[in-house]
Amino acid sequence: MSKKILVIGSGIAGISASRKLKSYGLETIIVDKGDFIGGRIATHIKEKENNKFTFFHGAQFFTARSKNFNQLLKSDINKNYIKKYENFSPQRYRGFPTMRNFLSYISNEIYVKQKTKVIGIFKNNKKINVLYENSSKEDTYDAVISTLPAPQNIELMTKFPYLSKVLSTASYDSCIALMLAFKSLPDTIPSYFDLSKNKSNILSWLASSNDKNCWTIHANAIFSNENFIKDQFFIKDQILNELPKIFKLSDHLISSQIVYSKLHFWKYAKVNNIAKGIQIDPNYPIAIAGDFMEGSRVESAFISGEKAAELIFHRLN
Ligand SMILES: Cc1cc2nc3c(=O)[nH]c(=O)nc-3n(C[C@H](O)[C@H](O)[C@H](O)COP(=O)(O)OP(=O)(O)OC[C@H]3O[C@@H](n4cnc5c(N)ncnc54)[C@H](O)[C@@H]3O)c2cc1C
Repeated sequence: MSKKILVIGSGIAGISASRKLKSYGLETIIVDKGDFIGGRIATHIKEKENNKFTFFHGAQFFTARSKNFNQLLKSDINKNYIKKYENFSPQRYRGFPTMRNFLSYISNEIYVKQKTKVIGIFKNNKKINVLYENSSKEDTYDAVISTLPAPQNIELMTKFPYLSKVLSTASYDSCIALMLAFKSLPDTIPSYFDLSKNKSNILSWLASSNDKNCWTIHANAIFSNENFIKDQFFIKDQILNELPKIFKLSDHLISSQIVYSKLHFWKYAKVNNIAKGIQIDPNYPIAIAGDFMEGSRVESAFISGEKAAELIFHRLN
């Protein structure tokens, strides 16, 4: 009889877990509380006065150093939803035309249900019960893989102390992202600035999306952790004040070119402590996956999803 397997989270870890299980002949359903697929590989699209602005406000690119992720990208690079990004070594990649297209494409044979929030996970004999928001009845699954960032995952894992303990060993830095659309910037401005090596006290990375006038500016971990709950005007001002020296343009020129701006607050942005311990419960068919098990990158989350899928596959067989 076919198994009913739930994957919580439509980020890269959830998609990779589902793809792996599918390769073993096991179908899954992915549920995610957000409006769009991708989790922290995020795309924000704003339509305003006949203009369409597209921002990559989460991960802005990804590497593919690991064998399986590299194979996936290599086999699909010609299919027009992913492109090499600039000339970095190791090579970096981006979804095309948006980051979301990458996630949608690699999950096109998987059932993904957005706007569906899980609020409880329980034991039910040797199966797993799941409670959704706005539902009074629990659903029963043969297996579950939960891929939320570790601190959110802990809230769902109260009935699974082995996994809770592992999750409690991971931690994250926050990231404040400022999205800016410009009327038009001079062609001389490069498409990214890497400020990670202390070139700015508060910023780490600025880059345009595939639209040269739509920029996302990431504040560094120290600034983001310290200012996460501060006033939005204060944060925006601090970030904007940095731009003239980076773009080598006057304050006035920059502010006169801005046609749209929006802040986004990522509480759990990048892993700074990887979780230590088991990925599957010793007694129940439930596993955890996500960047927090492997590292701070897209491909870490991908690897961890595959590992969780392997563990669940062997548990069910
Ligand atoms: C600002 C920023 C910049 C980054 N830059 C890079 C970069 O340049 N390169 C790189 O490799 N990595 C980068 N990263 C890290 C990378 O984005 C992550 O490591 C990776 O996307 C994590 O994937 P994931 O599947 O583990 O988690 P997520 O993508 O967070 O997926 C978890 C999903 O769970 C869903 N969810 C949460 N709670 C519930 C619930 N109760 N019920 C249902 N669904 C729920 C969420 O909506 C989310 O979609 C960046 C991250 C951020 C935030």
